[in-house]
Amino acid sequence: MLTVRGVEKRFGDEPVLKGVDLEVAKGDVVVVIGPSGSGKTTLLRCLNFLEHADAGELNFEGETFNLASISRKDVLRIRRRTAFVFQNYNLFLNKTALENITEPLITARGFSKKDAEEKGRALLERVGLSDRADNYPSELSGGQQQRVAIARALGGSPDIIYFDEPTSALDPELTESVLATIRSLAAEGMTMIVVTHEIGFAESVATKALFLEAGRVVEFADADTFFRHPKEARTRAFLETFR
Ligand code: ATP
Repeated sequence: MLTVRGVEKRFGDEPVLKGVDLEVAKGDVVVVIGPSGSGKTTLLRCLNFLEHADAGELNFEGETFNLASISRKDVLRIRRRTAFVFQNYNLFLNKTALENITEPLITARGFSKKDAEEKGRALLERVGLSDRADNYPSELSGGQQQRVAIARALGGSPDIIYFDEPTSALDPELTESVLATIRSLAAEGMTMIVVTHEIGFAESVATKALFLEAGRVVEFADADTFFRHPKEARTRAFLETFR
């Protein structure tokens, strides 16, 4: 579904991604882990064009694009089929939970208000928030806000969802509800790339895992190999720190 080759990104003089390759098949949950500052978030943002990569190639559903020179039109075309869930939810604060989901359906996807509301309520139910439709973000816990953001992401029926450290802004007791939501999406076969510091969660949900360090891929393998029999000593050492 998605193949990425040679992604490079600098911020000023600092190379942050130094030639990253990645392959995602339909139904894969690829977890991206690595030390702080290794480039995980930057990689995810480059894949969804929230950052402009300096080099690299992206093949999405059989079409190949040059990341450094992709046209605005192609960016928008790919973005219609993908969704991004941010660390800090990025909800509209002056809109209710339901409106946060219906607004993009109406403005970007051509839904009528009635159809958008019907879909919005079904999505809220899917993330366990049926009773919160009329609450504003300030009236919701961080975990609930993130689940609204996930429901909004699902609204566009994406082929792939990118999660950027979806629980890192949450207290531990609120983290579990978000992780459970992501796990249920994985069980339904949703294709996802998840940047996370939650190694236990990563192990439980991943079909593939990528270990990034200083902008390079140290190891990219199927989850069983990665977590149980990593080939690289550096991966073993990193995983050991969580065990
Ligand atoms: P963490 O786990 O701490 O979130 P990360 O692996 O996601 O880290 P990134 O956020 O991708 O790492 O950052 C990689 C490097 O790029 C860091 O050195 C960071 O300071 C730098 N960086 C990220 N965004 C910018 C930016 N907009 N401008 C300049 N430097 C940036």
